[in-house]
Amino acid sequence: MHPAMRSDILVRSFMPERSSLVLRAIRIGALPVLAAFIVVLMAGGGARAESVYSFATTPGRLPKNVMPTHYTIDLKPDLATRAVPGSEVVDIKVLAPTDRVVLNAVDMVLHSASLQGEPGQAAAITPDPRKQTVTLRFPRKLAIGPHKLAIAFTGRINRFGRGLFSVDYPTAHGQKRMIATELEPADARRVFPCWDEPAFKASFEPSVTVAQNALAVSNMPIAREEPAGGGLKRVSFGATPRMSTYLFVLVAGDLERLTGDANGVTVGVVTTAGKREQGRYALKSAIDILGFYNDYFGVKYPLPKLDLIAVPGSVGGAMENWGGIVFNESILLFDPASSPDALRRNIFSVLAHEMAHQWFGDLVTMAWWNDLWLNEGFASWMQNKAAERLHPEWQTWLNSGTSKQIAMDADARPTSHPIQQPVADESEAESVFDSITYSKSQAFLRELENYLGADEFRGGIQRYMAAHAYSNATTADLWLALSRASGKQVAAIATTYTEQPGVPLVVSNASCAGGQQRLALEQERFFIRGPIKARPQLWEIPIAFGRPGAKESSGAVLMRAKAMAVAAGPCGEAIKLNFGDVGYYRTLYDPAAEAALAKSIEKMDPADRVSMLADNWALLEAGRATAASYFGLVEAIADDRSRAVWERATGAIGRIDDLERGLPGRPAFQAYARARLRPVFARLGWDRAAGESEDDTILRARLIRELGALGDGAVLAEAKRRFAAFAKNPQSLDVNLRGPVIFLAGREADRATYDELRALGRKATGTEERVRYYIALASAVNPELASDALAITLTDEVPPDLANGMILTVAAGEHPELALAFVKANFEALAARRGPTFRAFFMSSLMTNFADRAHADELANFAPAHETAGGRIAAARAEEEILEAADFRAHQIPEVDAWVKQHPAP
Ligand SMILES: [Zn+2]
Repeated sequence: MHPAMRSDILVRSFMPERSSLVLRAIRIGALPVLAAFIVVLMAGGGARAESVYSFATTPGRLPKNVMPTHYTIDLKPDLATRAVPGSEVVDIKVLAPTDRVVLNAVDMVLHSASLQGEPGQAAAITPDPRKQTVTLRFPRKLAIGPHKLAIAFTGRINRFGRGLFSVDYPTAHGQKRMIATELEPADARRVFPCWDEPAFKASFEPSVTVAQNALAVSNMPIAREEPAGGGLKRVSFGATPRMSTYLFVLVAGDLERLTGDANGVTVGVVTTAGKREQGRYALKSAIDILGFYNDYFGVKYPLPKLDLIAVPGSVGGAMENWGGIVFNESILLFDPASSPDALRRNIFSVLAHEMAHQWFGDLVTMAWWNDLWLNEGFASWMQNKAAERLHPEWQTWLNSGTSKQIAMDADARPTSHPIQQPVADESEAESVFDSITYSKSQAFLRELENYLGADEFRGGIQRYMAAHAYSNATTADLWLALSRASGKQVAAIATTYTEQPGVPLVVSNASCAGGQQRLALEQERFFIRGPIKARPQLWEIPIAFGRPGAKESSGAVLMRAKAMAVAAGPCGEAIKLNFGDVGYYRTLYDPAAEAALAKSIEKMDPADRVSMLADNWALLEAGRATAASYFGLVEAIADDRSRAVWERATGAIGRIDDLERGLPGRPAFQAYARARLRPVFARLGWDRAAGESEDDTILRARLIRELGALGDGAVLAEAKRRFAAFAKNPQSLDVNLRGPVIFLAGREADRATYDELRALGRKATGTEERVRYYIALASAVNPELASDALAITLTDEVPPDLANGMILTVAAGEHPELALAFVKANFEALAARRGPTFRAFFMSSLMTNFADRAHADELANFAPAHETAGGRIAAARAEEEILEAADFRAHQIPEVDAWVKQHPAP
């Protein structure tokens, strides 16, 4: 799954205007941890040795006495009534004699269940809605061995993007409806009765009855189509290889398909009618990526086809169903008439992520959700590996560094969790899709590859693939394969990152003796809010260090103990730790070393400048660096040309601006911030220079948004002028400026502009454009207009994922109170439209826009957020985040204000 999958994280992909916003938006999946669990961690839980995979010992809730091996499924979805009558025959293997068969089913009625032959019809069918299971009790015990189980049932098409759902979307010929599935982690049970846990792998052979003119897509190619009467046809698909239930896919509607050949595999881009040509970029990229992966993994892509399916809304991100990946169309389709150039990078990344899952996740699947990182960390790492290989000019590791910072922020809280995390049930499984699972794992795998060597690492991956193809694996299996390939004891290092929470802080104190410099290093767990009485933790940290600007590091050590000393060249030489920013740790230098490094920051490589700014910001949040030292760095990078460096600085500026909301120092801070960013923007100007780098193009858009949000009059006036021209003639506005100009038009909108934007949104048939207009509406500073935007989310005007994004946009902008009051007043109505994910998680994500204890307490008392284990986890995490922001407002904002006073804007 791509992280944007969580509907609440949607904002991240569509709203890059403020990294503070981005930061808050992603936190959501909030993997938070129950208060009780925190206590366990603090008290010294910790490294649990995990075993290699075995079906019998894999955690889960279903009994393991009966196993499915093959499902033949027949579905007859009725788009008008939303009923889905269905039947299935499941080949099962009984491993121990039993008269009870327990499998998963939810939101469906089972009409009958029978075994072919003895003992025939089930005597009782007993659903348990709480456990989401159904128990079939037979009159006699089933003998050990194979049986065929036939079930007749009726399921439902829902509107909230889980299980089998409908998507209503605008076209030039009016509103249309299609259906699609999204089953991870545990929603296959909403579509057909099944053993819905990843270790119960089986093959699937579905058929579906749809309109005569519809295109239906599943994991495998169509085997046959036959008329079914009444303008309908029955489409049957080939049988899949053995796979987990959550990877099943079924999509149908008025669709078309663009295809290409990749070494014998048919790659298809499936879109709604009329959009096929917008799939060209994705098709070409997919063919490139497939070639690279076939080679890297040493196992060829095993299915005859791979479809990339563009769905216009309701899915927030993308889902790696085997052979039929589903995307929100805004991150798959590229429309040269309206898409910014940089969208290609996003499309490539998401594609590379989902395609990596075809091996890591689909061919080899984590045994249980506690090892979700095996899927997500690996796919996240591989998406950057593929981009660095096929598009080195994008500098993907450097430019995607924000995700590592987000993970390190989350990991600096007591509510963080180990990468390998116990998961008791489905609601908890949902809560594991967070920045620790995705981005900490990604960063750690990069560190590990760097330590083992790229060839050794790949050798281990190939062994792992070969050993577990069509089956499951645990983290222990991966360490074993990597150890055998590299000859190094991988588990010793790796488990310090995956089995305990937290980000290590390396404290460095330089001393001088006989002209030689010596760094005394000490490691500790880094917390933003402290001091916290935590169990002492140790990591095995590969540390590279070097002189600013040197091509190579001057040395590397593996820090295994609490403290160690390193010889670091002649006295007085500035030495940067975490050289190249490959490591997953933060660094605190002694004041003299910090000053020397700050002085030479512009000599450093961009990656090291980024890590200097990021570490210093985190230390400022923790009260271990001063606002003066942070802004000293910001002033030292005044002439910096790197987008990644400015992403960090503008992220911090945007965050401070949010935390200044309602405080007397805000206008002076905004003036100071504008004075920092204006010269950077002046160098770029409004219009693209011939031959400028794409990073400059992206940075320009970012600066326009940020300067506009900081109230820069000249930028706002020009944006207004350009929007007016755009409204008359869309071609007048460069596609790369549409994002920031439309955002600022919405932010500053009066009633007329608001109406104009809404009309454009209603007219837009492409999701990327539609999202841009509606998110702009929700950004309005005018409270009446922001309220109007909130009201839209109670209607069918926008799909549920976009509606959630709009509410969070209002909350993250100038009106968190308005958004909160709206959600409280309409909670049940909204939850009824959005489904269980909204109920459990939405309030927690919304509340992270506040920065005071009263709101943390309010969340702690908000009952619906505490109904499920996953919801309680998310709430605990959000509370911690709110308190962190409150601390910053109390302690750091006055320091910032003092700095600003001493450094007035010219
Ligand atoms: Zn994924």
